Amino acid sequence: MLVSLEGLHALVTGGGSGIGLCIAETLQAAGANVTICDTDAARVEEVAASGRGIAARACDVSDGEQTTGLFRWYESEFGKLDILVNNAGITGPFGAIEDLAPEDWKRTMEVNVNGIFFCTRHAVPMLKKAGGGSIVNISSIAGRMGYPLRTPYSASKWAVIGLTQSLAMELGPHRIRVNALLPGFVAGPRHERNAEARAALLGITKDEQKQNIRRRISLGELTQPQDVANTAAFLVSAAGAHITGQSLSVDGNVDTFGNR
Ligand code: NAD
Repeated sequence: MLVSLEGLHALVTGGGSGIGLCIAETLQAAGANVTICDTDAARVEEVAASGRGIAARACDVSDGEQTTGLFRWYESEFGKLDILVNNAGITGPFGAIEDLAPEDWKRTMEVNVNGIFFCTRHAVPMLKKAGGGSIVNISSIAGRMGYPLRTPYSASKWAVIGLTQSLAMELGPHRIRVNALLPGFVAGPRHERNAEARAALLGITKDEQKQNIRRRISLGELTQPQDVANTAAFLVSAAGAHITGQSLSVDGNVDTFGNR
């Protein structure tokens, strides 16, 4: 680990598994005092009991009351926040726009966009009190390119970019940096589920879909959660001290989602 986060306090949303857990572990390995929240109570319990030294709390970030409770608890427990990683996000529905259920559209926005609003509005007063800090919002390459048949997800991730750029301007005078990370196709269970769902929509096999994906990546291989976590650690550290308002892809260079 090239950076030190010694003495800093970090909260990672959706940190019970996947990219969020990898970010939490990486920040902790760099010396930060890390807390995660997640909707999945079993994952929360597992992380809390794992002996990793990461604190964990159940919270659905799309619920204003639950996030108020989370931050009340966090403040009384730790008293200080330097880093917020807004990672919690859902895939949303796959399908043609005319086939999407309004409640699936709404849920995608509630978690991926409202969730960041609810957490950030509580985090900012603590970051100001700390004399500055850093927010990392996890968007997606679907937040810089159109993503046919995943329109709610793409719209939600573009919204994350708007939030990031506006907040970087609003909070810069308080020495709070706000950046977005845009992961590409990340290895893991979500990638497997997504490849299967899109293959079914396109009438091809899952393996064919996975080959299609690899062809679109200049480096020819999937991104690993650790690639995203390393970039997050760099951004929130002193090494990233003059970086704010940026949208940084960690994707091996995906040039297009293609037409389908
Ligand atoms: P994942 O599904 O493996 O993990 C997400 C975690 O967030 C889970 O533990 C889940 O329980 C939790 N979560 C879901 N809804 C929540 C809520 N309302 N409140 C609190 N926690 C909640 O997903 P992942 O692949 O690790 O994705 C993490 C982030 O990265 C998401 O924002 C996702 O959109 C983004 N992303 C992922 C990929 C990818 O290929 N996996 C690519 C680009 C962007």
